Amino acid sequence: MIVTEKIVVVRQHLDSLRRRQERIGLVPTMGALHEGHRSLIRRAREECDFVVVSIFVNPTQFGPNEDLDRYPRSLEKDLEICKAEGVNMVFTPSAKEMYPDESFIRFEINTLTKHLCGASRPGHFNGVLQVVNKLLQVVEPTDSYFGQKDIQQFTLIKRMVQEFNIWVHVHRVDTIREHDGLALSSRNRYLSDTDRKIAPELYRNLQRLHQICIEKVFADRNEMQKQLDDAKDRLGESGLKIDYLEIVDSSTLQPVENMANNISYIIAGAVYLGNTRLIDNIILER
Ligand code: AMP
Repeated sequence: MIVTEKIVVVRQHLDSLRRRQERIGLVPTMGALHEGHRSLIRRAREECDFVVVSIFVNPTQFGPNEDLDRYPRSLEKDLEICKAEGVNMVFTPSAKEMYPDESFIRFEINTLTKHLCGASRPGHFNGVLQVVNKLLQVVEPTDSYFGQKDIQQFTLIKRMVQEFNIWVHVHRVDTIREHDGLALSSRNRYLSDTDRKIAPELYRNLQRLHQICIEKVFADRNEMQKQLDDAKDRLGESGLKIDYLEIVDSSTLQPVENMANNISYIIAGAVYLGNTRLIDNIILER
């Protein structure tokens, strides 16, 4: 397994693979790897000849009051996991390697970041697109793998690749969960024992909403809003502080007035437990 901090090494090595038309899979991560990341890596391993995992805690996607400094870092353990999963190359750039100069160009994202995480994390998705775009230019993979857990991120990356004609397949991988339904996240380790016990309530309420949406035809927006409000009340009663709970159209990421058939929706929520912010979602196909 090649481990490198240098863009030039990645490029040099991958050039010959590209000439041989090999499939190169990229799995971008911020490290602190868990089973969710492993499942992305395994999918890449199954589908590609050469798998690159990037580990980079990207400063430009953290807001001023977010957890950049205390974000978990465990490079040695991450490298062991990558090795065990048969990864061919781990790219671990420094911030200086990724951002050698001041950056003058920003992504202007339209309504896709008006709701969900985009609404509460201004600038976050600009940083995400900035770093993913760079990683795609450096590695030039044929395939890239992203988790459904970060569904808005996935949707934006898919859009960026389409709009900018980037030559890469973007794959969505299902969310991996703990036995009680809590979506795996590097941030789960911040949770106290008490908070860990109530954290699965987010997914339980998303499931409940999902079931209601399957069974019921909402006559109007008020009826749907009532279900969302009830779910928010339940989340609040369990001790979770709600950032958002929304049902959006999966392609526009805009809240919906009512539900049509043959369209897919995303039921998504974000909550705080102490200072820890957890997100989750379910896709509803109608
Ligand atoms: P992160 O290291 O948190 O930036 O995540 C790197 C990639 O792993 C992203 O594409 C995430 O969506 C994905 N990921 C994180 N948690 C999970 C999970 N529980 N299941 C599946 N994919 C995940």
